[in-house]
Amino acid sequence: MKLYELTIHQAHQLLKNREVSSLELTRAVLEHIEKTEEKVHAFVSVTAEKALIQAAQADERIKGDDSTPLTGVPVTIKDNMCTRGVTTTCSSKMLENFIPPYDATVVERLNHEGMVMVGKGNMDEFAMGSSNEHSAFYPTNNPWDTACVPGGSSGGPAVSVATGESIYALGSDTGGSIRQPAGFCNVVGLKPTYGRVSRYGLVAFASSLDQIGPMTRDVTDSALVLNVIAGHDPKDSTSVDYPVPDYTESLIPDLKGLKLGVPKEYFVEGMQKGVEEVIRTAITRLEELGATVDWEVSLPHTKYALAAYYIIAPSEAMANLARYDGVKYGFSYEGKNMWDAMEKTRGYGFGPEVKRRIILGTYALSAGYYDAYYVKAQKVRTLIRREFEEAFERYDALITPTSPTVPFKIGERVSDPLQMYLSDVCTLPINIAGIPGLSVPAGFCDGLPVGMQILGKPFNEDILFRIGYAYEQANGWWQQRPAI
Ligand code: GLN
Repeated sequence: MKLYELTIHQAHQLLKNREVSSLELTRAVLEHIEKTEEKVHAFVSVTAEKALIQAAQADERIKGDDSTPLTGVPVTIKDNMCTRGVTTTCSSKMLENFIPPYDATVVERLNHEGMVMVGKGNMDEFAMGSSNEHSAFYPTNNPWDTACVPGGSSGGPAVSVATGESIYALGSDTGGSIRQPAGFCNVVGLKPTYGRVSRYGLVAFASSLDQIGPMTRDVTDSALVLNVIAGHDPKDSTSVDYPVPDYTESLIPDLKGLKLGVPKEYFVEGMQKGVEEVIRTAITRLEELGATVDWEVSLPHTKYALAAYYIIAPSEAMANLARYDGVKYGFSYEGKNMWDAMEKTRGYGFGPEVKRRIILGTYALSAGYYDAYYVKAQKVRTLIRREFEEAFERYDALITPTSPTVPFKIGERVSDPLQMYLSDVCTLPINIAGIPGLSVPAGFCDGLPVGMQILGKPFNEDILFRIGYAYEQANGWWQQRPAI
């Protein structure tokens, strides 16, 4: 096995036993990036020099027997999380040259463990999109078929983990941006409960929906990363002060005593037949592992989630993006006067999808429409949340597909926003409800990966890990690597 193909826990064993050094591991990953990157474009920036310095520091810690599972293990950070001294672009011209003077809390926490960051991951501009085609710089390619999209908006981080351009990554998820690309690239992606992980230093898209989470090769790694990034942060008033268990304790290989539900609304019309077969087979495996499965659960409000999301998310985005006025941050156009400068700054700095969201949000929040759209969407949100609450009185977890299709071709949906928005029908109700969701590799359809989504009660990430882990132990899907 190549060094860049290791999981975090495998790498940690080798590092701890001094069989390899972090410098060797980091060099192997950086060399692999050099060979692979021109085929996939997973990064906005590769921070090789910094990574080697961090690796040398990590080796010092390891020598002093002061290492933790993440010490010295190469990571990709999505380019919407602030990294002190390293550009944080959000894949937007607006922030192309923005160098934050501080680290996001998650980055600070990884640093504390002895982080080795190899680069910043490419994404859809300001995390708006499902294909990475909305990056202002270049699209990212799916390593399973480079003519296909990797999913989005955390497409770059997902690809870096799938190819071996990093051992793990951090993504962000507002409506599916961790889980959908994880599913499309055959990696494990977790969107934690809203409030589980600090958002401080994450460039805001839709503040009531955004959440940072791990993207990894297997479920054990996901638990190891969540152990570090979860927990209260006084700098983020929406982060919850709730104990963080050791998530690795939930990694047991059977599902005896667990009750699972399969909500039929997630097997949507227009869903790819092959994807449905993969997911139904996977659920049968969960039954064989000891879980009882109710195949006939109904969550009737699911059908309103997409519409509610595309009111709430743009409304919040429009407010959050008002700060890019050419004065405080990033790109600034020198105009004839203040209004001219602002117009040109925003006109040039934002791409078409971001502008579309700003216009949608401004419309939904404008006088006369506010009650009809925004207030209505918030009411729908409450109904969806309650529906999940009721379901979780009966089931420990719900199982769905992560996406209704396998990765689509680059260019196929980019000029049809509605088609693009439909990519997230299975993931965005989860952000609306604030509950956790885990996507794990579940098989292939037409040679492309399919993800299974596991949903649980708020703060029940441990149950999701247990199910994902047991499934993973019984199936080798996660071990499949793209031939790139
Ligand atoms: N694809 C969804 C959107 O475009 C979700 C993006 C995300 O989760 N950041 O809004």
